[in-house]
Amino acid sequence: MDIPVPPSSDSRDPRILVPQIAQSFRQLPISLIANLANGFILAAVLWGAVPTPVLLSWSGLLVTVTGARFLSLRTFRNASPGSEPDLAVWTKYFVAGACAAGLVWGLSGILLFHPSSFPHQVVLAFVLGGMVAGAVPLLSSVRHAYGCFAIPVVVPIAIQMMWVGDRIHLVMGLLMVIFGLTMLATSAQVHRLFRDAEKLRRELFSSSEVAQALEYLVRLDSLTGIPNRRLFEEELGKEWARAKRDNVPLALITADIDHFKEYNDHYGHPAGDLCLVDVAQTLYRALSRPGDVAARIGGEEFAILLPQTDLNGAIAVAEQIRERVLALDLPHEASPVASQVTLSFGVSSSELASVASPAELIRTSDIALYEAKRCGRNQIVAARKTVSVLVAEAKGTGSKISNGASEGKTIRPWPL
Ligand code: GH3
Ligand code: MG
Ligand code: MG
Repeated sequence: MDIPVPPSSDSRDPRILVPQIAQSFRQLPISLIANLANGFILAAVLWGAVPTPVLLSWSGLLVTVTGARFLSLRTFRNASPGSEPDLAVWTKYFVAGACAAGLVWGLSGILLFHPSSFPHQVVLAFVLGGMVAGAVPLLSSVRHAYGCFAIPVVVPIAIQMMWVGDRIHLVMGLLMVIFGLTMLATSAQVHRLFRDAEKLRRELFSSSEVAQALEYLVRLDSLTGIPNRRLFEEELGKEWARAKRDNVPLALITADIDHFKEYNDHYGHPAGDLCLVDVAQTLYRALSRPGDVAARIGGEEFAILLPQTDLNGAIAVAEQIRERVLALDLPHEASPVASQVTLSFGVSSSELASVASPAELIRTSDIALYEAKRCGRNQIVAARKTVSVLVAEAKGTGSKISNGASEGKTIRPWPL
Protein backbone atom coordinates (compact mmCIF):
# COMPACT_ATOMS: atom_id res chain seq x y z
CA MET A 1 0.00 0.00 0.00
CA ASP A 2 1.36 3.42 -0.90
CA ILE A 3 1.93 5.65 2.10
CA PRO A 4 0.70 9.15 1.19
CA VAL A 5 3.32 11.83 0.54
CA PRO A 6 3.14 14.70 3.03
CA PRO A 7 1.56 17.87 1.66
CA SER A 8 3.85 20.54 0.25
CA SER A 9 3.68 24.23 1.06
CA ASP A 10 5.31 25.39 -2.17
CA SER A 11 2.77 26.97 -4.50
CA ARG A 12 4.95 25.94 -7.48
CA ASP A 13 4.56 22.34 -6.41
CA PRO A 14 2.66 20.61 -9.26
CA ARG A 15 0.19 19.21 -6.72
CA ILE A 16 -0.81 22.79 -5.88
CA LEU A 17 -0.22 24.11 -9.39
CA VAL A 18 -2.65 21.64 -10.97
CA PRO A 19 -5.74 22.77 -9.03
CA GLN A 20 -4.54 26.38 -9.28
CA ILE A 21 -4.33 26.43 -13.04
CA ALA A 22 -7.42 24.24 -13.41
CA GLN A 23 -9.37 26.66 -11.22
CA SER A 24 -8.19 29.62 -13.28
CA PHE A 25 -9.21 28.06 -16.57
CA ARG A 26 -12.52 26.96 -15.03
CA GLN A 27 -13.28 30.60 -14.24
CA LEU A 28 -12.06 31.90 -17.58
CA PRO A 29 -15.48 31.69 -19.34
CA ILE A 30 -16.95 34.16 -16.80
CA SER A 31 -14.00 36.43 -17.36
CA LEU A 32 -14.40 36.27 -21.16
CA ILE A 33 -18.14 36.94 -21.01
CA ALA A 34 -17.53 39.94 -18.67
CA ASN A 35 -14.93 41.28 -21.12
CA LEU A 36 -17.29 41.12 -24.09
CA ALA A 37 -20.34 42.43 -22.18
CA ASN A 38 -18.48 45.39 -20.67
CA GLY A 39 -16.79 46.14 -23.99
CA PHE A 40 -20.15 46.12 -25.74
CA ILE A 41 -21.72 48.43 -23.11
CA LEU A 42 -18.75 50.80 -23.25
CA ALA A 43 -18.87 50.92 -27.07
CA ALA A 44 -22.65 51.59 -26.96
CA VAL A 45 -22.24 54.45 -24.46
CA LEU A 46 -19.36 56.03 -26.37
CA TRP A 47 -20.93 55.53 -29.80
CA GLY A 48 -20.92 58.92 -31.53
CA ALA A 49 -18.83 60.54 -28.78
CA VAL A 50 -15.58 58.86 -29.87
CA PRO A 51 -14.50 58.54 -33.54
CA THR A 52 -16.22 55.42 -34.91
CA PRO A 53 -13.09 53.89 -36.55
CA VAL A 54 -11.26 54.15 -33.23
CA LEU A 55 -14.18 52.59 -31.38
CA LEU A 56 -14.51 49.78 -33.95
CA SER A 57 -10.77 49.10 -33.98
CA TRP A 58 -10.66 48.89 -30.24
CA SER A 59 -13.77 46.63 -30.18
CA GLY A 60 -12.17 44.40 -32.84
CA LEU A 61 -9.01 44.16 -30.76
CA LEU A 62 -11.03 43.21 -27.69
CA VAL A 63 -12.95 40.51 -29.61
CA THR A 64 -9.68 39.15 -31.06
CA VAL A 65 -7.94 38.91 -27.70
CA THR A 66 -11.05 37.40 -26.08
CA GLY A 67 -11.32 34.89 -28.92
CA ALA A 68 -7.67 33.92 -28.53
CA ARG A 69 -8.19 33.40 -24.80
CA PHE A 70 -11.24 31.29 -25.55
CA LEU A 71 -9.18 29.11 -27.92
CA SER A 72 -6.52 28.67 -25.24
CA LEU A 73 -9.26 27.56 -22.85
CA ARG A 74 -10.48 24.91 -25.32
CA THR A 75 -6.96 23.65 -25.95
CA PHE A 76 -6.33 23.46 -22.22
CA ARG A 77 -9.50 21.43 -21.69
CA ASN A 78 -8.55 18.98 -24.45
CA ALA A 79 -4.93 18.69 -23.33
CA SER A 80 -5.74 18.27 -19.58
CA PRO A 81 -2.04 18.63 -18.69
CA GLY A 82 -0.57 17.03 -15.58
CA SER A 83 3.21 17.21 -15.80
CA GLU A 84 5.19 20.07 -14.27
CA PRO A 85 6.65 21.51 -17.54
CA ASP A 86 3.20 21.43 -19.18
CA LEU A 87 1.69 23.26 -16.25
CA ALA A 88 4.41 25.90 -16.30
CA VAL A 89 3.64 26.55 -19.99
CA TRP A 90 -0.10 26.75 -19.35
CA THR A 91 0.48 29.14 -16.46
CA LYS A 92 2.42 31.38 -18.86
CA TYR A 93 -0.40 31.21 -21.42
CA PHE A 94 -2.92 32.15 -18.79
CA VAL A 95 -0.86 35.08 -17.53
CA ALA A 96 -0.18 36.20 -21.12
CA GLY A 97 -3.94 36.12 -21.84
CA ALA A 98 -4.63 38.23 -18.76
CA CYS A 99 -1.86 40.62 -19.79
CA ALA A 100 -3.23 41.01 -23.33
CA ALA A 101 -6.72 41.72 -21.97
CA GLY A 102 -5.23 44.26 -19.54
CA LEU A 103 -3.41 46.01 -22.40
CA VAL A 104 -6.60 46.21 -24.51
CA TRP A 105 -8.57 47.69 -21.63
CA GLY A 106 -5.65 49.97 -20.78
CA LEU A 107 -5.68 51.14 -24.40
CA SER A 108 -9.32 52.12 -23.99
CA GLY A 109 -8.19 54.49 -21.20
CA ILE A 110 -6.20 56.35 -23.86
CA LEU A 111 -8.13 55.83 -27.13
CA LEU A 112 -11.67 56.10 -25.73
CA PHE A 113 -11.00 58.89 -23.24
CA HIS A 114 -13.27 61.74 -24.24
CA PRO A 115 -11.21 64.96 -24.08
CA SER A 116 -14.05 67.17 -22.87
CA SER A 117 -17.15 65.19 -21.85
CA PHE A 118 -16.87 64.57 -18.12
CA PRO A 119 -19.83 62.08 -18.06
CA HIS A 120 -18.15 59.98 -20.77
CA GLN A 121 -14.90 60.06 -18.83
CA VAL A 122 -16.71 58.94 -15.69
CA VAL A 123 -18.41 56.06 -17.57
CA LEU A 124 -15.01 54.95 -18.92
CA ALA A 125 -13.41 55.16 -15.47
CA PHE A 126 -16.35 53.32 -13.98
CA VAL A 127 -16.18 50.46 -16.50
CA LEU A 128 -12.41 50.14 -16.07
CA GLY A 129 -12.74 50.19 -12.28
CA GLY A 130 -15.40 47.48 -12.56
CA MET A 131 -13.11 45.35 -14.71
CA VAL A 132 -10.27 45.76 -12.23
CA ALA A 133 -12.49 44.88 -9.25
CA GLY A 134 -14.27 41.99 -10.98
CA ALA A 135 -11.00 40.38 -12.03
CA VAL A 136 -9.85 39.87 -8.42
CA PRO A 137 -11.64 36.55 -7.81
CA LEU A 138 -11.21 35.46 -11.44
CA LEU A 139 -7.48 35.97 -11.86
CA SER A 140 -6.00 35.72 -8.37
CA SER A 141 -5.51 31.96 -8.22
CA VAL A 142 -2.50 32.14 -10.57
CA ARG A 143 0.47 34.19 -9.40
CA HIS A 144 1.07 37.45 -11.34
CA ALA A 145 -2.05 37.06 -13.53
CA TYR A 146 -3.99 39.74 -11.69
CA GLY A 147 -1.11 42.25 -11.62
CA CYS A 148 -0.52 41.71 -15.34
CA PHE A 149 -4.14 42.57 -16.00
CA ALA A 150 -4.84 45.34 -13.49
CA ILE A 151 -1.68 47.47 -13.79
CA PRO A 152 -2.03 48.09 -17.58
CA VAL A 153 -5.72 48.95 -17.04
CA VAL A 154 -5.27 51.40 -14.17
CA VAL A 155 -2.10 53.26 -15.19
CA PRO A 156 -3.26 54.81 -18.55
CA ILE A 157 -6.66 56.03 -17.28
CA ALA A 158 -5.05 57.44 -14.11
CA ILE A 159 -2.46 59.31 -16.20
CA GLN A 160 -5.16 60.57 -18.58
CA MET A 161 -7.19 61.90 -15.66
CA MET A 162 -4.22 63.62 -14.05
CA TRP A 163 -3.09 64.92 -17.45
CA VAL A 164 -6.25 67.03 -17.71
CA GLY A 165 -4.79 68.93 -14.81
CA ASP A 166 -7.76 70.37 -12.89
CA ARG A 167 -8.38 69.46 -9.30
CA ILE A 168 -11.30 67.08 -9.89
CA HIS A 169 -9.38 65.13 -12.55
CA LEU A 170 -6.29 65.03 -10.34
CA VAL A 171 -8.37 63.59 -7.49
CA MET A 172 -10.04 61.07 -9.83
CA GLY A 173 -6.65 59.97 -11.20
CA LEU A 174 -5.32 59.63 -7.70
CA LEU A 175 -8.42 57.66 -6.65
CA MET A 176 -7.87 55.30 -9.58
CA VAL A 177 -4.28 54.67 -8.42
CA ILE A 178 -5.37 54.07 -4.81
CA PHE A 179 -8.16 51.80 -6.01
CA GLY A 180 -5.72 49.85 -8.20
CA LEU A 181 -3.26 49.42 -5.32
CA THR A 182 -6.04 48.27 -2.97
CA MET A 183 -7.22 45.71 -5.51
CA LEU A 184 -3.64 44.47 -5.99
CA ALA A 185 -3.32 43.94 -2.23
CA THR A 186 -6.72 42.21 -2.15
CA SER A 187 -5.71 39.95 -5.01
CA ALA A 188 -2.51 38.94 -3.18
CA GLN A 189 -4.66 38.07 -0.17
CA VAL A 190 -7.07 36.02 -2.31
CA HIS A 191 -4.12 34.21 -3.88
CA ARG A 192 -2.82 33.26 -0.41
CA LEU A 193 -6.29 32.16 0.65
CA PHE A 194 -6.63 29.96 -2.40
CA ARG A 195 -3.21 28.40 -1.87
CA ASP A 196 -3.88 27.79 1.85
CA ALA A 197 -7.27 26.26 1.06
CA GLU A 198 -5.62 23.92 -1.42
CA LYS A 199 -2.93 23.00 1.12
CA LEU A 200 -5.58 22.33 3.77
CA ARG A 201 -7.60 20.21 1.36
CA ARG A 202 -4.48 18.17 0.58
CA GLU A 203 -3.59 17.79 4.26
CA LEU A 204 -7.11 16.66 5.07
CA PHE A 205 -7.07 14.23 2.18
CA SER A 206 -3.68 12.77 3.07
CA SER A 207 -4.50 12.47 6.77
CA SER A 208 -7.64 10.51 5.93
CA GLU A 209 -5.53 8.35 3.59
CA VAL A 210 -3.06 7.70 6.44
CA ALA A 211 -5.96 6.91 8.78
CA GLN A 212 -7.36 4.46 6.26
CA ALA A 213 -3.95 2.83 5.82
CA LEU A 214 -3.56 2.49 9.60
CA GLU A 215 -7.09 1.09 9.92
CA TYR A 216 -6.13 -1.52 7.37
CA LEU A 217 -2.74 -2.35 8.92
CA VAL A 218 -4.18 -2.68 12.41
CA ARG A 219 -6.25 -5.62 11.15
CA LEU A 220 -3.34 -7.55 9.66
CA ASP A 221 -1.00 -9.91 11.46
CA SER A 222 2.48 -8.36 11.31
CA LEU A 223 4.34 -11.69 11.02
CA THR A 224 2.28 -13.54 8.44
CA GLY A 225 0.49 -10.71 6.62
CA ILE A 226 -2.90 -12.43 6.86
CA PRO A 227 -5.84 -10.97 8.84
CA ASN A 228 -5.47 -10.99 12.61
CA ARG A 229 -7.85 -11.79 15.47
CA ARG A 230 -9.38 -8.32 15.38
CA LEU A 231 -10.42 -8.58 11.75
CA PHE A 232 -11.59 -12.15 12.33
CA GLU A 233 -13.85 -11.10 15.21
CA GLU A 234 -15.27 -8.20 13.22
CA GLU A 235 -15.99 -10.45 10.24
CA LEU A 236 -17.46 -13.14 12.48
CA GLY A 237 -19.90 -10.60 13.96
CA LYS A 238 -20.92 -9.35 10.52
CA GLU A 239 -21.20 -12.79 8.93
CA TRP A 240 -23.14 -14.14 11.90
CA ALA A 241 -25.74 -11.37 11.53
CA ARG A 242 -25.91 -11.93 7.77
CA ALA A 243 -26.28 -15.70 8.17
CA LYS A 244 -29.18 -15.25 10.61
CA ARG A 245 -30.86 -12.66 8.41
CA ASP A 246 -30.54 -14.77 5.24
CA ASN A 247 -31.10 -18.04 7.08
CA VAL A 248 -27.94 -19.62 5.67
CA PRO A 249 -25.24 -21.61 7.50
CA LEU A 250 -21.95 -20.12 8.70
CA ALA A 251 -19.06 -22.50 9.31
CA LEU A 252 -15.91 -22.05 11.33
CA ILE A 253 -12.67 -24.03 11.24
CA THR A 254 -10.09 -23.59 13.98
CA ALA A 255 -6.66 -24.97 13.19
CA ASP A 256 -3.55 -25.39 15.31
CA ILE A 257 -0.06 -26.51 14.38
CA ASP A 258 0.82 -29.79 16.03
CA HIS A 259 3.71 -29.89 18.47
CA PHE A 260 4.86 -26.46 17.54
CA LYS A 261 6.66 -25.96 20.82
CA GLU A 262 8.88 -28.89 19.85
CA TYR A 263 9.37 -27.32 16.42
CA ASN A 264 10.67 -24.13 18.04
CA ASP A 265 12.82 -26.07 20.45
CA HIS A 266 14.30 -28.15 17.65
CA TYR A 267 14.74 -25.60 14.85
CA GLY A 268 14.80 -22.33 16.78
CA HIS A 269 12.31 -19.49 17.06
CA PRO A 270 13.23 -17.73 13.76
CA ALA A 271 12.63 -20.98 11.86
CA GLY A 272 9.34 -21.28 13.77
CA ASP A 273 8.38 -17.83 12.50
CA LEU A 274 9.10 -18.84 8.90
CA CYS A 275 7.04 -21.97 9.37
CA LEU A 276 4.13 -19.86 10.65
CA VAL A 277 4.36 -17.64 7.57
CA ASP A 278 4.30 -20.66 5.22
CA VAL A 279 1.34 -22.24 6.98
CA ALA A 280 -0.58 -18.94 7.14
CA GLN A 281 -0.06 -18.23 3.46
CA THR A 282 -1.15 -21.75 2.56
CA LEU A 283 -4.34 -21.33 4.58
CA TYR A 284 -4.96 -17.96 3.02
CA ARG A 285 -4.45 -19.19 -0.53
CA ALA A 286 -6.60 -22.26 -0.02
CA LEU A 287 -9.72 -20.10 0.21
CA SER A 288 -11.39 -19.22 -3.03
CA ARG A 289 -14.81 -17.71 -2.27
CA PRO A 290 -15.21 -14.00 -1.60
CA GLY A 291 -16.22 -13.58 2.05
CA ASP A 292 -14.05 -16.48 3.26
CA VAL A 293 -11.58 -15.28 5.90
CA ALA A 294 -8.41 -16.97 7.13
CA ALA A 295 -6.89 -15.30 10.18
CA ARG A 296 -4.10 -15.90 12.66
CA ILE A 297 -5.90 -15.69 15.99
CA GLY A 298 -3.09 -16.80 18.30
CA GLY A 299 0.55 -17.93 18.36
CA GLU A 300 0.14 -20.99 16.11
CA GLU A 301 -3.64 -20.95 15.93
CA PHE A 302 -5.71 -20.02 12.95
CA ALA A 303 -9.40 -19.53 12.24
CA ILE A 304 -11.15 -19.90 8.92
CA LEU A 305 -14.58 -18.36 8.55
CA LEU A 306 -16.75 -19.76 5.76
CA PRO A 307 -20.01 -17.89 5.10
CA GLN A 308 -22.87 -19.78 3.45
CA THR A 309 -21.10 -23.07 4.07
CA ASP A 310 -22.50 -26.07 5.95
CA LEU A 311 -20.57 -28.46 8.14
CA ASN A 312 -19.76 -30.90 5.32
CA GLY A 313 -18.52 -28.08 3.11
CA ALA A 314 -16.29 -26.83 5.92
CA ILE A 315 -14.92 -30.34 6.52
CA ALA A 316 -14.01 -30.52 2.83
CA VAL A 317 -12.21 -27.17 3.04
CA ALA A 318 -10.38 -28.27 6.20
CA GLU A 319 -9.26 -31.48 4.52
CA GLN A 320 -8.02 -29.54 1.53
CA ILE A 321 -6.00 -27.25 3.79
CA ARG A 322 -4.64 -30.19 5.77
CA GLU A 323 -3.43 -31.79 2.55
CA ARG A 324 -1.94 -28.56 1.27
CA VAL A 325 0.04 -28.09 4.47
CA LEU A 326 1.25 -31.69 4.23
CA ALA A 327 2.24 -31.01 0.62
CA LEU A 328 4.41 -28.14 1.81
CA ASP A 329 6.54 -30.88 3.34
CA LEU A 330 8.02 -28.69 6.06
CA PRO A 331 10.26 -31.06 8.03
CA HIS A 332 9.38 -31.53 11.70
CA GLU A 333 11.78 -34.13 13.08
CA ALA A 334 10.69 -33.50 16.66
CA SER A 335 7.05 -34.34 15.99
CA PRO A 336 5.73 -37.68 17.21
CA VAL A 337 2.87 -37.36 14.68
CA ALA A 338 4.64 -37.17 11.35
CA SER A 339 7.99 -36.30 9.85
CA GLN A 340 6.60 -33.01 8.58
CA VAL A 341 4.55 -30.11 9.97
CA THR A 342 0.90 -31.06 10.47
CA LEU A 343 -2.23 -29.27 11.62
CA SER A 344 -5.24 -30.34 13.69
CA PHE A 345 -8.67 -28.95 12.89
CA GLY A 346 -11.93 -28.36 14.71
CA VAL A 347 -15.00 -27.63 12.58
CA SER A 348 -18.31 -26.19 13.67
CA SER A 349 -21.34 -24.62 12.05
CA SER A 350 -24.19 -22.31 12.96
CA GLU A 351 -26.56 -25.11 11.85
CA LEU A 352 -25.99 -26.84 15.20
CA ALA A 353 -29.13 -26.29 17.23
CA SER A 354 -27.29 -25.16 20.30
CA VAL A 355 -24.94 -22.74 18.54
CA ALA A 356 -26.83 -19.56 19.28
CA SER A 357 -24.06 -16.98 19.18
CA PRO A 358 -20.69 -16.29 17.55
CA ALA A 359 -19.03 -17.14 20.89
CA GLU A 360 -20.67 -20.58 20.84
CA LEU A 361 -19.54 -21.14 17.30
CA ILE A 362 -15.95 -20.52 18.40
CA ARG A 363 -16.39 -22.63 21.50
CA THR A 364 -17.77 -25.70 19.69
CA SER A 365 -15.06 -25.42 17.09
CA ASP A 366 -12.41 -25.16 19.83
CA ILE A 367 -13.77 -28.22 21.60
CA ALA A 368 -13.68 -30.18 18.35
CA LEU A 369 -10.08 -29.04 17.84
CA TYR A 370 -9.23 -30.18 21.33
CA GLU A 371 -10.67 -33.57 20.42
CA ALA A 372 -8.61 -33.70 17.24
CA LYS A 373 -5.51 -33.10 19.37
CA ARG A 374 -6.55 -35.70 21.87
CA CYS A 375 -7.19 -38.27 19.18
CA GLY A 376 -3.70 -38.06 17.76
CA ARG A 377 -3.52 -34.74 15.87
CA ASN A 378 -3.16 -34.26 12.08
CA GLN A 379 -6.89 -34.72 11.69
CA ILE A 380 -10.23 -32.98 11.49
CA VAL A 381 -12.99 -33.28 14.05
CA ALA A 382 -16.41 -31.86 13.34
CA ALA A 383 -18.74 -30.88 16.17
CA ARG A 384 -22.20 -32.32 15.71
CA LYS A 385 -23.86 -32.09 19.11
CA THR A 386 -24.92 -29.35 21.48
CA VAL A 387 -22.37 -27.29 23.35
CA SER A 388 -23.28 -28.74 26.74
CA VAL A 389 -23.03 -32.31 25.46
CA LEU A 390 -19.76 -31.52 23.75
CA VAL A 391 -18.33 -30.06 26.94
CA ALA A 392 -19.53 -32.97 29.03
CA GLU A 393 -18.20 -35.51 26.58
CA ALA A 394 -14.91 -33.70 26.18
CA LYS A 395 -14.49 -33.89 29.95
CA GLY A 396 -15.32 -37.61 29.84
CA THR A 397 -13.14 -40.43 28.63
CA GLY A 398 -13.65 -39.86 24.94
CA SER A 399 -13.32 -43.62 24.55
CA LYS A 400 -16.08 -43.56 21.96
CA ILE A 401 -13.73 -41.98 19.53
CA SER A 402 -11.48 -44.28 17.62
CA ASN A 403 -8.15 -43.00 16.52
CA GLY A 404 -8.75 -42.60 12.83
CA ALA A 405 -5.30 -41.24 12.14
CA SER A 406 -3.66 -44.63 12.48
CA GLU A 407 -6.18 -46.01 10.02
CA GLY A 408 -5.46 -43.27 7.51
CA LYS A 409 -8.78 -41.57 8.29
CA THR A 410 -8.43 -37.94 9.07
CA ILE A 411 -11.98 -36.71 9.24
CA ARG A 412 -14.33 -37.72 12.00
CA PRO A 413 -17.67 -36.46 13.16
CA TRP A 414 -17.51 -36.03 16.88
CA PRO A 415 -19.05 -37.33 19.11
CA LEU A 416 -20.01 -40.22 16.90
P1 GH3 B 1 -0.17 -28.95 20.26
O1 GH3 B 1 0.13 -29.96 19.22
O2 GH3 B 1 -0.93 -29.53 21.40
O3 GH3 B 1 -0.81 -27.75 19.68
O4 GH3 B 1 1.23 -28.54 20.86
P2 GH3 B 1 2.00 -27.21 20.62
O5 GH3 B 1 3.41 -27.40 21.05
O6 GH3 B 1 1.81 -26.76 19.22
O7 GH3 B 1 1.21 -26.22 21.52
P3 GH3 B 1 1.68 -25.34 22.73
O8 GH3 B 1 0.52 -24.50 23.07
O9 GH3 B 1 2.23 -26.21 23.83
O10 GH3 B 1 2.85 -24.46 22.16
C1 GH3 B 1 2.65 -23.50 21.20
C2 GH3 B 1 3.97 -22.96 20.80
O11 GH3 B 1 3.85 -22.04 19.76
C3 GH3 B 1 4.68 -22.30 21.94
C4 GH3 B 1 5.25 -21.03 21.35
O12 GH3 B 1 6.62 -20.97 21.55
C5 GH3 B 1 4.96 -21.17 19.88
N1 GH3 B 1 4.64 -19.86 19.31
C6 GH3 B 1 3.59 -19.09 19.57
N2 GH3 B 1 3.66 -17.94 18.85
C7 GH3 B 1 4.78 -18.01 18.10
C8 GH3 B 1 5.41 -17.15 17.17
O13 GH3 B 1 4.92 -16.06 16.83
N3 GH3 B 1 6.56 -17.55 16.61
C9 GH3 B 1 7.11 -18.76 16.94
N4 GH3 B 1 8.27 -19.10 16.35
N5 GH3 B 1 6.56 -19.57 17.83
C10 GH3 B 1 5.40 -19.23 18.41
MG1 MG C 1 -0.11 -26.26 18.57
MG1 MG D 1 -2.06 -23.69 20.34
